[in-house]
Amino acid sequence: MSARVLLLGGTGDALQIARALGSEHVYSLAGLGRVPADLSCAVRVGGFGGAQGLAHYLADEDIALLLDATHPYAAQISANAANACEQTGVPYWALRRAPWQPQPGDDWRNVSGWASVIEAIQPYTRVLFTLGREPLAHLGEVPEHQHWTVRCLDAHPGHARAKVIDARGPFTHEGERALFEAGRYDVIVSKNSGGAATEAKLAVARDMGLPVVMMQRPSLPPAQREFASVQHVLDALATLNQRNIDA
Ligand code: NAP
Repeated sequence: MSARVLLLGGTGDALQIARALGSEHVYSLAGLGRVPADLSCAVRVGGFGGAQGLAHYLADEDIALLLDATHPYAAQISANAANACEQTGVPYWALRRAPWQPQPGDDWRNVSGWASVIEAIQPYTRVLFTLGREPLAHLGEVPEHQHWTVRCLDAHPGHARAKVIDARGPFTHEGERALFEAGRYDVIVSKNSGGAATEAKLAVARDMGLPVVMMQRPSLPPAQREFASVQHVLDALATLNQRNIDA
């Protein structure tokens, strides 16, 4: 029997790893997005109740390894995971997707926090937000001179100066170009998520000479092992299973 893994997910990368896990392992989701129904591993949905709740879960469920493949901006769950692993002695591994790097021709404005996003977009009139649901909480604050488009996973009616596009990546270069041209945006707001699935917007912004207001990543706790790709994680899990089988 192999070591029982708790995989923390919510990202496309995590889902790829979950697809490779057998029935003794557990894939955990916050419950914000789609819950896959076609996995061999167990799937659990919803918070654990902070670091303490997660520490109890690790002990109660006899988890031998916690693998954090959450989004790079999901800092709370990563901090809880590191804390719970320290309390219980369960190893903490993490998939840490490399951030995108600016290319020649890019015009990125690095900001941290919502207030600095608002300040950075102040000179512009047609704003495309591609950083998740956070702008939905601020649709009552769209300045008179602006129109916002918010692309996220949630359906929302928006209003006269705010349109919400409910869409899930991956997004293509052609699709992003068509969206940007139709919306006549003069600024894009993004997280530095890294990875290929949502990277096309950056190339299109570069081609069209558009500024990108880039929200900086939060700091994440160090892990005992950090991996840069899904394949590296799968290779490490295969080695771990082999070691357990050999033992
Ligand atoms: P978060 O702020 O780090 O987590 C908030 C709480 O949600 C955690 O404390 C935990 O509740 C619960 N939670 C989060 N991930 C979980 C998981 N895999 N299994 C069980 N519980 C989980 O993260 P977030 O709310 O998911 O997202 C924060 C930011 O990341 C947002 O800006 C979002 O747009 C972006 N993002 C996240 C994901 C993702 O993978 N979660 C994907 C795309 C984008 P308890 O304390 O009760 O355990």
